[in-house]
Amino acid sequence: MTNSQAPAALRFSVQSRPDPATDEARAAVLADPGFGTTFTDHMARIAWTKEQGWHDGQIVPYGPITLDPAASVLHYGQEIFEGLKAFRHEDGSVWCFRPEANAERMIRSAERLALPTLSVPDFIASITALVQADEAWVPAYGTGETSLYLRPFMFATEAFLGVRPATEVTYLCIASPAGAYFSGGISPVSLWISTNYARAGEGGTGAAKCGGNYASSMAGQVEGIAHGCDQAVFLDSSTHTYIEELGGMNLFLVYKDGRLVTPALTGSILEGVTRRSIMQLGAEMGLDVQERRIPIQEWKDGVASGELAEVFACGTAAVVTPVGRLVWEGGECTVSTEPGEVTMKLRKTLLDIQYGRTPDSHGWLTRLV
Ligand SMILES: *Cc1c(COP(=O)(O)O)cnc(C)c1O
Repeated sequence: MTNSQAPAALRFSVQSRPDPATDEARAAVLADPGFGTTFTDHMARIAWTKEQGWHDGQIVPYGPITLDPAASVLHYGQEIFEGLKAFRHEDGSVWCFRPEANAERMIRSAERLALPTLSVPDFIASITALVQADEAWVPAYGTGETSLYLRPFMFATEAFLGVRPATEVTYLCIASPAGAYFSGGISPVSLWISTNYARAGEGGTGAAKCGGNYASSMAGQVEGIAHGCDQAVFLDSSTHTYIEELGGMNLFLVYKDGRLVTPALTGSILEGVTRRSIMQLGAEMGLDVQERRIPIQEWKDGVASGELAEVFACGTAAVVTPVGRLVWEGGECTVSTEPGEVTMKLRKTLLDIQYGRTPDSHGWLTRLV
């Protein structure tokens, strides 16, 4: 367990739901959870005001919230979020993967969006209190790649149309049982190179996990789907030359000679916890891990020469996802039609740690229940 010397965190009062899901209803959801469609009985809530700071930590029944129509999040988009998973181990215990990394990233996102920062212990206390209240919603061990997906988020609730950081903010964490991202077995996805749209620019909010980045990625995503692709890959917005990332996942290229290459963090790329973990696991496997600028042309040339063996995307929701086709205006190339060996090895190594099947030698797991 990590965080044993963490300073005292907020305490959460628990207001239990009078009408929780019946065992039968919950079992039906857990039998086929999908992703992000059903939510547990409760949510965590913390209020913030300029005068009082963070206060009033609560576990309350999950349900709609009321917002003043002038709430500034609805007008100026002052909102950030996180995404992490709770995993059931074979002995019934429930664990989170590197939650302090998500908490630290939420602090960086808050600073960029001029929102108040929630401390690492308060963040972890909120997810712990929620998972303890809704433990029955964490899928059983051995039900495939199932987990309880946690979505902490924070938004400006102050009713004020003037443009300045809000003086009233709400933090919520909701939870949703998640099934395997690939229900019919893992198969490579196709990517559309978005040259008409960027998701982030120099000096912008690309490195923060905020809803606005997702809003700006949707048009590229729609264009990609119209071209028969699963997702869009975004390039740097200044030169349209270098690979950045997908709308919600980081990218890695695997070379035949053992190089594992990912775009360097330029300020417009979101630093994934999965990305950072894969870099470490790759180095431990003896791969030559490189973080640098990668011209999109290098991908096309690598496929043509045969030097590039595999490409994969990674993020909490889909873990590690093989990429096959790359499509652009006037052309396409396919690095591989099957999931690659290195891709699948990294994927399995990460999942084995998350589900407690191999020792957590990095101290990446935090016990919640
Ligand atoms: C959340 C996110 C990722 C992946 O981050 P993880 O911490 O690995 O889940 C990558 N790119 C973007 C834009 C994201 O929002």
